[in-house]
Amino acid sequence: MSKEKVIWLDGELVPWDEATIHVTSYGLYFGIGFFEAIRTFDTPDGPAFFRLDDHLKRLSDTAHTYLATLPYSQSDLIAACKQVVQANDLAECLVRPIVFLGDGDHPLAAKWRATVIAMSRGPYVSLPDEGGIHAKISSFHRMSANALPPAAKATGQYLNAYLAQSDALGAKYDDALLLNEHGHVVDGWVHNIFVVRDGVVRTPPVSAGALAGITRDTMITLAREQGLTCVEENLVRTDLYNADEVFLTGTSAGLVPVISVDRRTVGDGKPGEISRTLADMFGDIVHGRVDIHAEWREPVG
Ligand code: PMP
Repeated sequence: MSKEKVIWLDGELVPWDEATIHVTSYGLYFGIGFFEAIRTFDTPDGPAFFRLDDHLKRLSDTAHTYLATLPYSQSDLIAACKQVVQANDLAECLVRPIVFLGDGDHPLAAKWRATVIAMSRGPYVSLPDEGGIHAKISSFHRMSANALPPAAKATGQYLNAYLAQSDALGAKYDDALLLNEHGHVVDGWVHNIFVVRDGVVRTPPVSAGALAGITRDTMITLAREQGLTCVEENLVRTDLYNADEVFLTGTSAGLVPVISVDRRTVGDGKPGEISRTLADMFGDIVHGRVDIHAEWREPVG
């Protein structure tokens, strides 16, 4: 794992190797914590976060769901994100604010702690030469909203994603897709999913169990601004098999075309036109190569 210089931990910058927590922390033991993953991109005006406020708002919504009071305000966390990127001299990086439960005699009496890590690492999925990935619908379902709310972004729930993705990788696929207990398509293991058929773009609703992804919202907005019909509705597996295009979205990977699902070729087996257009627009916006949606870029400096 590549190392940077410093990490923000409980309000101060500490050297990378000294940013440790005690093994008795409930964040480790019970997996109790919340997090975000945010990216910065190089722009003509210097490095900029993409939709920083929206990510931190989601962190605060997650905390609210779990009746947790964040140890730092929204503005403290914004400052911490900027400080840690600057202190590490990073331009394009992944920034992870994590709020986790510390140690104590009882989890409900333990204190919330926070860290912000900035790393120059790339996405989990690297795009193969074919320009798209091969996905498999996992036999593991997405956890239900009444068991572990998928609309919140809590650390422990990623065991569900881990099961699905290890299943897919073990079967030599690139990425797992998950259904909910009703058989509706939810998402990828750490991505949202979209299908395109006859020019109409569709994505599962949050009520199906999808995370309200920031990149998902960005793609819905851009698609509609392009004059495309983009709807949130329940999808079943055959909607994926018979789509003209399927793509995944997420902070770390951006837009990832899917060229087969369960060995059924999607469309003509190449990234489709709408996927390519949205990916190009996204790249232009995050890098500030176009003026539109400047409100989504927050300067690091
Ligand atoms: N769904 C899940 C389950 C995820 O973990 C992620 C990654 N945060 C996403 C979707 C994509 O969300 P975003 O675009 O906000 O990164």
